[in-house]
Amino acid sequence: MPAYDDTNIFARILRGEIPNRTVLETEHTLAFHDIMPKAPVHVLLIPKGAYVSYDDFAANASDAEILDFTRAVARLTRELGVDLDKGQGYRAITNAGEHGVQEVPHFHLHILGGRNIGRMVEPA
Ligand code: AMP
Repeated sequence: MPAYDDTNIFARILRGEIPNRTVLETEHTLAFHDIMPKAPVHVLLIPKGAYVSYDDFAANASDAEILDFTRAVARLTRELGVDLDKGQGYRAITNAGEHGVQEVPHFHLHILGGRNIGRMVEPA
């Protein structure tokens, strides 16, 4: 696992050094609008802890952090109106490393919705 780089943009958001459009905040988790949205709904959900990727988070976060993050997915999709009770669905994506084409090395889940998001990935 690469060392966590605390100069990344999401670490700076968490430190309050740069602004964000917060959608939801809990003890261990923050959700905010993506600055370059790829869909009518495009929100990023991040843990407040220093984790590089989903596998880093899954292996090393505390039970409390994992529970908080997971419950935040439910709250967020409901609050964004894309959940399957009242909305029409969404795609959750997390990119990791070079092959995942991860730009910001702080674990984040993209929640995309508000339109049909299309095919998952291009064929190989
Ligand atoms: P990824 O390629 O999965 O690392 O995606 C990083 C995402 O972060 C991209 O969708 C960017 O548009 C988004 N992003 C970069 N800087 C900011 C920022 N300051 N506020 C909100 N979203 C950002």
